[in-house]
Amino acid sequence: MTTTLNSLIAGAAPNARAIGAPGRAWMDYAGLRALSARVEQQLRGFGIGASDRVAIVLPNGPEMATAFVTIAQAAVTAPLNPAYQQAEYAFYLGDLQAKALVIPAGYDGPALAAAEPLGMVILRLHADTTSPAGEFHLTGPAAPTPAAQGRPDADATALILHTSGTTSRPKIVPLLQSNLAASARHIGQSLALTPADCCLNVMPLFHIHGLVAAVTASLAAGGSVWCAPGFDALKFFGWMTEAQPTWYTAVPTMHQAILSRAARNRDVIAAHPLRFLRSSSASLPAQVMVELQSTFNAPVIEAYGMTEAAHQMACNPLPPRAQKPGSVGIAAGPLLRIAHEVENRLTDGTGEVVISGPNVTPGYEGNPDANAKNFFEADGLRWFRTGDQGALDDEGYLRLTGRLKEIINRGGEKISPLEVDGVLLDHPAVQQVVAFAMPHAKLGEEVAAAVVLREGHSATEREIRDFAATRMADFKVPRRVVILDEIPKGATGKLQRIGLAEKLGLGTQ
Ligand code: ATP
Ligand code: MG
Repeated sequence: MTTTLNSLIAGAAPNARAIGAPGRAWMDYAGLRALSARVEQQLRGFGIGASDRVAIVLPNGPEMATAFVTIAQAAVTAPLNPAYQQAEYAFYLGDLQAKALVIPAGYDGPALAAAEPLGMVILRLHADTTSPAGEFHLTGPAAPTPAAQGRPDADATALILHTSGTTSRPKIVPLLQSNLAASARHIGQSLALTPADCCLNVMPLFHIHGLVAAVTASLAAGGSVWCAPGFDALKFFGWMTEAQPTWYTAVPTMHQAILSRAARNRDVIAAHPLRFLRSSSASLPAQVMVELQSTFNAPVIEAYGMTEAAHQMACNPLPPRAQKPGSVGIAAGPLLRIAHEVENRLTDGTGEVVISGPNVTPGYEGNPDANAKNFFEADGLRWFRTGDQGALDDEGYLRLTGRLKEIINRGGEKISPLEVDGVLLDHPAVQQVVAFAMPHAKLGEEVAAAVVLREGHSATEREIRDFAATRMADFKVPRRVVILDEIPKGATGKLQRIGLAEKLGLGTQ
């Protein structure tokens, strides 16, 4: 059983494609392994040992992918969003106690300004754009004494990420070499990945979804990943032509943006058939799934993931096994059960989803309260509370009904925002919906929704509310429907229900 990133990619054929990018030759596995060995040597020379933390601030693309994969075989990686401002970097870098910072060769931005006062080792990454995709070398100050040689073992931390901050202040999640290896293997098994598979990556590489599902799972299967410079619906179909992927993975908002460009790119879709599309990190509305499936004429595999699980927890099976729209699939790696909401015991029916398995983080860093609240022992195993609410059917398919923190509490009546989204999406003029709680003087919370209309369609707030009233009980009908050009999203492309009322200026009703 492979338990480190290094052993995970050791078996792939040397001349097989590993990393691709726009306008670049492919880096093969021999090249990737040689780069890993060089990076390890270089890091030791800069005084960075196997347990030292290296923050990485790079734009999305092949060097970000190879920097992660190679540095994680030699030290602890901590990728950070390149869009942060100086105060955010100061906060995150201090929080992480990172020893070094990797930045692009010519970079003079806020991450550097934040790192210098902390006395961090600054490492500049020089991308060689005439070499295969992802090729780079590091420059920095030589250490008086090089760090000890040797690669991290399976129990060493490989990656430190912050959660998306959808429901509260982001939490620091350390993931072990063994957590990443297990998750990458689980994803490969769920998707039946082989060396013939190529993933077109559009996901940000400072978030678990792209790092593990697109990059690490592809490499663990001996396949390839073609690294786009970030998500762009206008360029997506051009990238499909160049990369010739067999699959891609994205969050629902990206799939929706791709769908809105699909009609004028039918020829590209027909010329480059995908084996499947994967959706994860947020709920995929059934309508979007159906439209994607018919547009791409390929199965859409919805999976359920989170940072604390090194991404994947559940996944819908590939055909011919039954997919269940509206379900996030069956346990795909860890054990998955429902827990009693208050007591620390497992139960049946609807409740909080809990997981236990080799991909689950040993615990949040510097947050004993969250650890005490989120981990418990039952049936001889250690379980992690996901904060998501759901139910397992008798075939083991999980249906999520929402996040515990996002449930709208209307005077004691609990309303799932996902249910409201689903109803409003049936309106012919509605392209995207996010239902949320807005403050209400008497009820505590009231239902509201933000809506984006389809191109060329129109509808009023009143029409949408009347439509909803014909399809659901009155207490669930949004009292306010705000029509927007775009719904505000978090850094990882996820819609944030919590705090939306405030962002949209919806005060107490
Ligand atoms: P924070 O924990 O800081 O509030 P976050 O939970 O959004 O942020 P992530 O780890 O990126 O941070 O996201 C994990 C969460 O995303 C899951 O707990 C779940 O709520 C949601 N999620 C992931 N996949 C799906 C899916 N297929 N359907 C519905 N929700 C999903
Ligand atoms: Mg979370």
